[in-house]
Amino acid sequence: MEKGLLIVVSGPAGSGKGTVNAMLLESEEYAFSVSATTRDPRPGEVHGKNYLYITREDFEGRIARGEMLEHTVYCDNYYGTPLKEAMEVLESGRNLILEIEVEGAMNVKRRYPDAVLIMLLPPSFAVQEARLRGRATETEDCILKRLERTKSEVALLNHYDYVVYNRDNGAGICADDIRAIVRAEKCSVRRHAKASEDYFV
Ligand code: 5GP
Repeated sequence: MEKGLLIVVSGPAGSGKGTVNAMLLESEEYAFSVSATTRDPRPGEVHGKNYLYITREDFEGRIARGEMLEHTVYCDNYYGTPLKEAMEVLESGRNLILEIEVEGAMNVKRRYPDAVLIMLLPPSFAVQEARLRGRATETEDCILKRLERTKSEVALLNHYDYVVYNRDNGAGICADDIRAIVRAEKCSVRRHAKASEDYFV
């Protein structure tokens, strides 16, 4: 069976990653990697669905035991992708979405060069700031840290394979774009290295 595609979706705070990914996940073809984090849950977030909310001690133990595919520290908290679950999804043939920040994305690309890296961007920094403030789920300090971090995130755009803009009410269009990227990637010749040999068998 063909293995699933490892898809990294990054984007600065307020880019709409969660909404876009939720649309992709309506199809059985896609699965989401539930990350572990040491940050507190936001209102409405559910342990085991949005994240595994664990202590620092627990997180550091998992790193030490090699149980993380990648991890990072973002705004003073650990975030990481559990390795075993990710590999099981890919082996099952489903496409796995990692909704992770840029450092994690770079680590994934180093370890799995076949991964497809997509950056989701709001149309501009000004729109991003307005959206983030509209969400009003973080403290001012946290909002400022997240906005500040955007510069270093966007600076890594050239290491990504694709950029998708989330314009006004554009989540559906972004999800369509990502589905199109995935279809094209699955047809790419570099993913079918033995195709010409196999054709004549
Ligand atoms: P938030 O606190 O807004 O849920 O997430 C903060 C940032 O951490 C976002 O950019 C999100 O994509 C990223 N993130 C979430 N899970 C992971 C993970 O497992 N690994 C890494 N490297 N980043 C993550």
